[in-house]
Amino acid sequence: MFKKVLIANRGEIALRIQRACRELGIKSVVVYSEADRDAKYVRLADEAVCIGPAPSAQSYLSMPAIIATAEVTDAEAIHPGYGFLSENADFAERVERSGFTFIGPTPESIRMMGDKVSAKQAMIRAGVPCVPGSEGALPEDPKEIIKIARSVGYPVIIKAAGGGGGRGMRVVHTEAALVHAVQTTRAEAGAAFGNPEVYMEKFLENPRHVEIQILADTFKNAVWLGERDCSMQRRHQKIIEEAPAPGIPRRNIEKVGDRCAAACKKMGYRGAGTFEFLYENGEFYFIEMNTRVQVEHPVTELVTGIDIVQQQIKIAAGEKLPFTQRQIEMRGHAIECRINAEDPVKFVPSPGRITMWHAPGGPGVRVDSHAYTNYFVPPNYDSMIGKIIVHGDTREQALARMRIALSETVVEGIQTNIPLHRELMADAKFIEGGTSIHYLEGWMAAHKR
Ligand code: ADP
Repeated sequence: MFKKVLIANRGEIALRIQRACRELGIKSVVVYSEADRDAKYVRLADEAVCIGPAPSAQSYLSMPAIIATAEVTDAEAIHPGYGFLSENADFAERVERSGFTFIGPTPESIRMMGDKVSAKQAMIRAGVPCVPGSEGALPEDPKEIIKIARSVGYPVIIKAAGGGGGRGMRVVHTEAALVHAVQTTRAEAGAAFGNPEVYMEKFLENPRHVEIQILADTFKNAVWLGERDCSMQRRHQKIIEEAPAPGIPRRNIEKVGDRCAAACKKMGYRGAGTFEFLYENGEFYFIEMNTRVQVEHPVTELVTGIDIVQQQIKIAAGEKLPFTQRQIEMRGHAIECRINAEDPVKFVPSPGRITMWHAPGGPGVRVDSHAYTNYFVPPNYDSMIGKIIVHGDTREQALARMRIALSETVVEGIQTNIPLHRELMADAKFIEGGTSIHYLEGWMAAHKR
């Protein structure tokens, strides 16, 4: 096992990784920007090194600064967390070329999944069900594009091969609008992602977002750890996640889960990863794979009892997965609410000093957050300041525990989306379960948000 790991991230996930390291008896080095100087996890770290000013480009995205820090602190491995450099194949390559272990998949896997066209082709080859659409990138010839759209059937969605974060997508309802939409998406994709390639998919009208968590070691073992339903989204950003996905027959989940694990073996994938699917009319359709730990990983940890971050580290250290698929059991139900520093009605970010922070507790309640009373939320980064995760024997019990947890939580000095979560936990349709990815935006429109 490693003696020292460098954590190339910030906020709650930096603290989460630090805790995993501690439990494994590994010393941790955190890198931080000037804006995060006072963060508690920075003070709690075995070693902490300031790597630059607040803007991420000069700190958390600075590959030379991070690698140089690993060198001077004698770290053996680098955990990238999520966001920032976590899905940057060049970074993974530079880490390994500098003689450190990258806690994540190979640069080749990251590169293949980072390009959505090549990711989808790999999935088709591996027998993972995909959204019907163009075979690969769209050609230049407008006549060909029209022909492809006719065979896929309207409405279609044009998506950038290099897209991410819900950007670089356009829905097309009629043939008259098609060619122009393809050209515009191409131009935007070229400017935003440096890759003008676009592809076409059937636009699913009312799907749910259901994803499969996998773990794979370097000995060709791969398992799936159940699913997560992340359909509660605003502008393609998840805000509530749960496991298991309400109302989906276990047989369907098992079938797709087994396909994902088999795909990992076939691709020689290593580490943690997530296969994201849209689910409609009883069918799963792959949309993308994330080659890193995800924000919502705790709901899976609570229902399986498996520490995903520790497993990432152990896999990177060359250990075998300690369980087989048959030994993985799902127990009860878990729900996560992402707490964002933002106006709960207008959704504008609300950085600043937290004058009072009181986290909830009690049976089945977990809080992953780096916030505390007197913590200053910097305006430079993502607005998420923590996550409340609950576990219960049933979905009803988990919902009840989340309501209690939210009622106990006190955050003063800044605005948060906690009032929104309180309303959603009392919403009849959400309580019923199985809402689509459009539900939250419809709800907000109805509530004049
Ligand atoms: P990103 O990497 O930008 O998150 P995804 O491919 O994961 O892109 O898609 C993001 C979101 O866009 C999905 O969660 C879904 O809401 C919507 N979406 C993507 N593809 C389709 C599709 N074929 N039909 C309907 N909605 C889609």
